[in-house]
Formats: sequence, C-alpha cells, structure tokens
Amino acid sequence: MTNLSGLLDARNRHISKALSIGHGKPLHIVRGEMQYLYAADGTQYLDLVNNVCHVGHCHPKVVAAGQEQMSKLSTNTRYVFDGLTEYVSRISATLPDELCVGFLLNSGSEANELAVRLARAHTGNHDMVVIEGGYHGNTSMLVQLSPYKFMGPGGKGKPESWVHVVPVPDVFRRKEFDYGEEINQVIKNAGKIAGFLVEPLLSCAGQIPLPEGFLDAARKYTHKAGGLLIVDEVQVGFGRVGTHMWGFENQGVTPDIVVLGKSIGNGHPMSAVFTTKEIASSLGEMEWFSSTGGNPVSCAIGNAVLDVIEEENLLKRASELGEFFIQGLKDLQEKYPIIGDVRGRGLFIGIEFVHDRDTLEPAADEAARVIREMRDSGVLLSTDGPLHNVIKIKPPMVLTKEDIDMTLRLLNESLGRTGDVSAE
Ligand code: PMP
Repeated sequence: MTNLSGLLDARNRHISKALSIGHGKPLHIVRGEMQYLYAADGTQYLDLVNNVCHVGHCHPKVVAAGQEQMSKLSTNTRYVFDGLTEYVSRISATLPDELCVGFLLNSGSEANELAVRLARAHTGNHDMVVIEGGYHGNTSMLVQLSPYKFMGPGGKGKPESWVHVVPVPDVFRRKEFDYGEEINQVIKNAGKIAGFLVEPLLSCAGQIPLPEGFLDAARKYTHKAGGLLIVDEVQVGFGRVGTHMWGFENQGVTPDIVVLGKSIGNGHPMSAVFTTKEIASSLGEMEWFSSTGGNPVSCAIGNAVLDVIEEENLLKRASELGEFFIQGLKDLQEKYPIIGDVRGRGLFIGIEFVHDRDTLEPAADEAARVIREMRDSGVLLSTDGPLHNVIKIKPPMVLTKEDIDMTLRLLNESLGRTGDVSAE
C-alpha cells in the first residue's frame, strides 16, 4: 500500500486543487462497513455525513447484487431486461400515480440537467427559479442554477439574467417574512418561467426543512407563470426523512418532476428523473439515450437498495433514531448557548452555532473546532450553510442508538471545552 505522503504527492500532481480534501486533514480510508469507515492505521470512524451510502457502506446485499449482475450482463437500456422494468415500476409505485415515467442516468447533476431540459421543452420557457443557498450540480448550467456556487467562493456573485433567486425560508435567522409573497414577487418579476428547482429540505443552504406550505406556494406561483415544479430529492430521498419515502410528501404536494440521486445506488453512480407521461414526451422526435444509465448492474443495485430499505424497515428506523438524536441535541442546546438551533427531520439534522442568541452572530470557528475534535475522537461530521456554522448530520441509515449516545457524549465533552456553558 502506498503511504500517505506518496498518495498526497500523486494527488497534488494529478488532481485539481478545485477538489479539496474533506474533514480538515487527509484521511487515508481503506474500507467501509455499514456506518463506519476504517483508516489504513486501523482507526474506526463513525460516518455521520455520508448520505450516499444510504443503507450502509458496502452493504452485503447491495454488493452481492452488483457482483452477481456484473458477472452476467451489463449493457444498455435499448434492450429489454427484467431488472430495468422491475426497477422503474418499483420506484414509480412509491411516487404519486402521475409521475410514472422514469429516465435512468448516472449522477444527480445529469438528472437535474435533464429535469431542466424537460421543463424547458414542455413549457417553451427558459428562465428558472431557485432558492438562495441551493446547490444542484457540477455542470456549467447547474453551477449557474446554484446560488451556493455563484454567490460562494470563486463565483460571479450574481445570477445570470435567466436565473431568479427566492430568499431562503430560514425561520431561525429571518423571524418575520411571508415566503408566499416572496415567491410570488420573484416569479412575477421573472415573467414566464420554465420551472422552479427546489429541494424539499434545504441541504447546502444549512440543513433547513421547508416551512409548511412552502412547496404548495411554489407550485401555485410556478404554474401561474407557465412553469413546472421540479423537486430535487438527491440529498433527502429514499426515506431519510423517516415519515415518508420522499421529502416532498412532508409538504403534501405533487411535483411535476422529481430528481433522485446519491442514495439511489448506495454509492454506485446512478440517478433518475420521474415525471408525467406528457412532460416526458415533450422531448418530441429527439432520441434520448444514456450509455450506462439504467444498465443491468445499476438496476440490480437499485433494486437491492429498495429491498434493504423495506427489509430493514429503514424509514421507521430513521424516524425513531432521528427523534432520539434531535432530542439529545436539544438537551445539549439547553446546556450550551453556542447551539442556537437544532432542526431536521428523520436522519437529516442541522445544528446551528451562534456566538449570541440575540444577534445570531455565526460561530463558524467554534463549529469547526467541534468537528475537528469529533474527528479526532472518531466521529466524522462537517459544516455547511452560507455562514459555515451549521453542523450537518445525514448518516447511513443503519446508525444505532449506541452510535448516537456516543456522539452526544463526545459532543458534550467537546462543547464543555469551549468554556461557553450556560449560566446555571
Ligand atoms: N442536487 C443536490 C441537492 C445535491 O446535493 C447534489 C450533490 N451534492 C447534486 C444535486 C448533484 O449530484 P452529483 O454530485 O451526483 O452530480
């Protein structure tokens, strides 16, 4: 095995600096098993941030399904095969009836690209609406549709003329606002739009569940302007919210297009777009094809992920563990004023750090210190949000109560070291 300095030399030579190393220092990871990662020196890390390995790193059932299919057949979707039709039928059965046509692709970015293309083709409009702080993918077009990128480091600082940004509906930082009116105003100013691309719980914007009624208002004003509601489930889909398979179900709204990614393949590169027959047919005479999207190996893996979610009752688990985790974090919030807010649904949780609960001055430095200490104690976390002061928690769904107990105990110890305890 190459040693760490050899790996870093080669990495620095051959991999762009645009791709930074996570967790504040290079971790030489050699193996993953369920909710744990293992380093070359044998250190075990509890992974609380990887929502891609949804049913657990290297889940044996998913691995076996992929290996078996890989040894039998891997071709493209211009052939008829069981795994493909079984897979799209199973996903469709979890969605509202009208979202019955699926496209299978290879990444969340690719799927969002297709969703926007479908919206433009169907509506004849071009402009798009997104939410402040949102991230939707790494292609040129999606960077232009991601305020997280164009407003962030290295970005242009302002949207393209065809991109319209709705303020983030952050009920912690923005006490008084009427999100319906904000959506209405932004869309009115935009004129005709192709669509509104939105996550049902905001991830990069700071682990923020949408306020009740938000998607309903988004759908109403979007339709009024001739557009389609596109829900990006890449981060929160497949039962992470616990109560439902999909984040949008929390809001009781049926989108026009749904985008699935990350957890869909438990780490195998897969994604999907599901929509109505009418919208799917708007590509018209033009052929659509992906060389590897929906190949038999991907379908076998996708089917195995669905099997595991069902067999291991992972939605119920996410609900119960999420509640337990959030309660434990709220107990810490009572003890440590630096924790300004604890929020989330199921196993999608955010902890917002502030120096002052009145001014809400962000405590990004303290959040960074805590995640560094947690890392050195064997628990991987990271921060997000435009102010870099929100610790995000979105672990593989096979987490246990013991993992949460350990995390809460270590967080308590780390927070205790700030000296910033409550005035009891
Ligand atoms: N949408 C959201 C909400 C995401 O978080 C991401 C990736 N972090 C993407 C889309 C893009 O997915 P991918 O990296 O698979 O292209």
